[in-house]
Amino acid sequence: MAFKQEPLPYSRNALEPHMSAATLKHHYGHHHATYVEKLNELSKGTPYAKMSLEEVVLTTADDDGAERIFQNAAQAWNHDFFWKSMTPGGGGRPAGALACAIDDAFGSHKAFSEAFVKHGLERFGSGWVWLVSDDDGLRIVSTPNGRSVQVDGPKPLLVCDVWEHAYYLDHQHRRERFLKTFLTHLANWDFAGRRMNLEGEGTYTASRAFRAGQEAFAASGKVAKAARAAADALDGPEGGELRAAEARAARRR
Ligand code: FE
Repeated sequence: MAFKQEPLPYSRNALEPHMSAATLKHHYGHHHATYVEKLNELSKGTPYAKMSLEEVVLTTADDDGAERIFQNAAQAWNHDFFWKSMTPGGGGRPAGALACAIDDAFGSHKAFSEAFVKHGLERFGSGWVWLVSDDDGLRIVSTPNGRSVQVDGPKPLLVCDVWEHAYYLDHQHRRERFLKTFLTHLANWDFAGRRMNLEGEGTYTASRAFRAGQEAFAASGKVAKAARAAADALDGPEGGELRAAEARAARRR
């Protein structure tokens, strides 16, 4: 089944005046659509064509031989997530548990906003700025080009696209103004709050890491070595001690 671009969660003029219909026409209708088309072209007839979009992203993330598939799959996934990260009438301060988590992590909403903008400005060239959660709480992370943050472990809550095509029509070269507009008028805090409270999210990433660990352990030859050591121990003096201890325990029962 071919990969499909998710529908925009609002109409193309719904984010005006903060993000124009022209930006959405080109960004959603051309840039994002092209990543999905390219992914379908590249994955046709390969095992990737049978995976979910997120599985393709996670499976190809560190595979040099699949870099083009990864970049297009990740860009398709990131853009779906970006559209959900905005909402008409969004921005400002979140409420509830998310507001508390932001205060815990950054000290205040103002400090969080400054850090988010700073990460966006320091991302040289194209990339993404994410609010994520992991075992240490909330963090801000930026990734280059198409890299999706979940391939490195954390759960994404919100993302802002800082490729020039995201802001050039509305803000020209002024990325800082775009980042501030995103936080003040567009950020979908309800979405980020729901993401934060999702149970089980990230399980796929965890199970992938566990499988990779098992494979690395098996490939290292340590499994056979450990099994040999265990067999030798049971046949040798330690085995004798173990059998004697078991016999003593059995007599006491
Ligand atoms: Fe983009």
